[in-house]
Amino acid sequence: MFIEVADFLKCPHDHDFQPCVVVPDKMEDRNVVSGVIGCPVCNSEFPIRCGRGIFGEAELLESPGTVDASVLLAVLGLSSPGGYLALVGSVVDCWHDLAGAAEVHVIGINAPAGLDEAEGLSLLDTAAEIPLKSSCVRGVVLSSGQTSKRWFDEATRIVLPGQRVVAVSESVPENNLEQIALGHGMWVGKKTN
Ligand SMILES: [Zn+2]
Repeated sequence: MFIEVADFLKCPHDHDFQPCVVVPDKMEDRNVVSGVIGCPVCNSEFPIRCGRGIFGEAELLESPGTVDASVLLAVLGLSSPGGYLALVGSVVDCWHDLAGAAEVHVIGINAPAGLDEAEGLSLLDTAAEIPLKSSCVRGVVLSSGQTSKRWFDEATRIVLPGQRVVAVSESVPENNLEQIALGHGMWVGKKTN
């Protein structure tokens, strides 16, 4: 986990937000390989193992079909480099193409089990809430297996106002985003406030 991602980490338990504190055991350059993430509010502790921040057991849902990274890049509408992009589920597999082309750091949530951390990619596992603070990423992509209302609400919460949430599905739950595109197996919405 890239050490600067620590500034965005949020305890998944239901209480007022205070940033979590990361205590590294082992670092490689600026990546935390192992350590502990602590919540200063409820004192919960979450491990970092093999670079992965583990907030809960990841749901492993089937997401059939493949995703074209160049299409994703176009619909995300990232016009300038920098910042963070969150990918949820199997779509984390195409992180490298997105990170390279958009020049963003990718936060992979519930990534496929075989995927390892790398320069430009931080991995977080979670059972329920996305363990990131509100309005902190420049875009979110939800795999087709992660388009339930709960994932949609969480994606909407973490994306910055004016930025987009892309679902790899044409069928999405009722949500608070402004729909801006639908087709080619994707739904695209923008956070308006
Ligand atoms: Zn907490």
